[in-house]
Amino acid sequence: MKIIKYKNKDYVLYSDHIISLEIVKERVRDLEKWVNDLQSGMYINCVYCGHRYGPSESMPASMADVLKRHIEQCPKHPMSTLKKELQRLKDVFEGCFK
Ligand SMILES: [Zn+2]
Repeated sequence: MKIIKYKNKDYVLYSDHIISLEIVKERVRDLEKWVNDLQSGMYINCVYCGHRYGPSESMPASMADVLKRHIEQCPKHPMSTLKKELQRLKDVFEGCFK
């Protein structure tokens, strides 16, 4: 996204229009609220392990945030494999200097 500065305001090229960056940011915030509202009454499943979060659970955060937190700890998410491999390599590296 190319930001165009004009009279101390930021604008971006949107489709074939030039639009204020503030308007785009406001629209994104509105859409994020809408997604959160839509997801608040739904069950969300982790596609890697199947763990399910439901609307009956009391959650101070949005469903998207809850899912992000789960992904950081999900044993079947690819990031988990990468974390384990990183730790193994750190252990090997540190072992070289003992
Ligand atoms: Zn999971």
